[in-house]
Amino acid sequence: MKKIPLYLKIILGMLLGVIFGVVVIQFSGGVQFTKDWIKPFGNIFINLLKLIAIPLILASLVKGVSDLKDISKLSRMGLRTVIFYLFTTVFAVSLGLGIVNLVKPGKAISEETRTQMLQTYGVQATEKQTEAHSQKEGGPLKFVEDIVPDNIFKATSTNSTMLQVIFFALFMGIALIMIPPGRAKPVVDFFDSFNDVVLKMIDIIMKGAPYGVFALMAALVAESPGFEIFMALGKYAITVLVGLIILIFLFYPTIIYLFTRRNPIQFLKQISPAQLLAFSTSSSAATLPVTMDVTENRVGVDNEVTSFVLPIGATVNMDGTSLYQAVAAVFIAQAFGMDLSLGAQLGIIATATLASIGSAAVPSAGMVMLVIVLGQAGIPEAGLALIFAIDRPLDMVRTVANVTSDCTVSTVIAKSIGKLDDPKHSL
Ligand code: ASP
Repeated sequence: MKKIPLYLKIILGMLLGVIFGVVVIQFSGGVQFTKDWIKPFGNIFINLLKLIAIPLILASLVKGVSDLKDISKLSRMGLRTVIFYLFTTVFAVSLGLGIVNLVKPGKAISEETRTQMLQTYGVQATEKQTEAHSQKEGGPLKFVEDIVPDNIFKATSTNSTMLQVIFFALFMGIALIMIPPGRAKPVVDFFDSFNDVVLKMIDIIMKGAPYGVFALMAALVAESPGFEIFMALGKYAITVLVGLIILIFLFYPTIIYLFTRRNPIQFLKQISPAQLLAFSTSSSAATLPVTMDVTENRVGVDNEVTSFVLPIGATVNMDGTSLYQAVAAVFIAQAFGMDLSLGAQLGIIATATLASIGSAAVPSAGMVMLVIVLGQAGIPEAGLALIFAIDRPLDMVRTVANVTSDCTVSTVIAKSIGKLDDPKHSL
């Protein structure tokens, strides 16, 4: 029998999961059954992916940087990475603002729906606000300060400090270039084979992906709130989705075509396993191992580039998140009958860009940081309750945009420094 490609198996897993969820909620006790017996397998799958993220960053970044042999290459690549990531994010926020001002979804919210949402989701919204405020404490340079770990074991012990691990791996890779090659060799060799082991582990984990996504989708459907809520927030959801779809299917493919002259449809097909996983896990961090795998092996980006550009991208480059934050902020303002001035909207471009950089690569992190965007623009933070019910499905799609952006930027950078080859093999 012909081998079914992984991405098709994942799609099949997702579809069956949705069907299972729809059927099971018809039975009494179905939701509880899914929570108790199906959801844990989805969580195990996400845990396995996250488990591998830190070892992967460490191994591949130390190896990737030491392979560069020369530090000036690193700074050239670093500068391009920062410029490109910023450009795509600012574009995404501006696109979001354009669409939300055009569609005006907030005007469609009735007084009654608003009050009902504020009552139903008020408590959860307050929790997110508290979370955001505790992150906001500290001076303007706190963000930079937080990148430098004071203890590497502590930094590697939690997935929320990935930037610290990236910092350490870069630092170590640079030091390895600076010592005589003969002295560096044992350490480089170690990280080289460590990297191979980690890649093998990812291969093994991915064999379970179709089952993992089945469980995740089944749990999502079984636990989702009623259909009426989706209807009430339909216009807002469609506004966010239209923006995200433009990014994923128009903006990135155009960039790929313009900068690399590759076939954009082919490109989307090559990265599809990462996109599907982003969709089902809602986490760029959990998707990172597969993002690296597909960009390297299916798109053909050299490991020197993927090991540097992708882990940084997964943590700081979140175009989908920034677009969503812009739309959500203006939507809430509209729903509260506020008219935002041009100045306030320009402010949103800046804060949503920064807030998306500061968002962790985990489910619903974008909503936590949205609190900061709202605060800066003078929009009532309690408005978070309005968008709570529909956040998860939007999170799934914005994570796809985040991951697609990372793949796009790494491909463009690889092309610009002559590190884009023909694909090696398919996942
Ligand atoms: N879930 C998103 C990610 O991991 C972050 C967010 O927008 O909530 O990329």
